[in-house]
Amino acid sequence: MERQQCPCCDYFTLEERADWEICPVCSWEDDGHDLNRQDAPSSCNRGLTLRQGRENFRQFGACESEMVQHVCSMDKRQHYRHASRTRE
Ligand SMILES: [Zn+2]
Repeated sequence: MERQQCPCCDYFTLEERADWEICPVCSWEDDGHDLNRQDAPSSCNRGLTLRQGRENFRQFGACESEMVQHVCSMDKRQHYRHASRTRE
């Protein structure tokens, strides 16, 4: 089955969307927020907005700098398909 795209890092890591799955690539917990709700604070991501999470992923390689130690290695990351989406 094709995996679903993580709203934060744009890798295809999730089995289902909006199922509180934690993305192995960026550690974002998927509460269903997507690019159309980038500025809504996500309580399960410690109040982070998706916009901040995406920016953090670009800078640190995780949705939050403290989560860098929990994300998978660059090696593993390459096993996931990636399709970057344009910024809004
Ligand atoms: Zn992700």
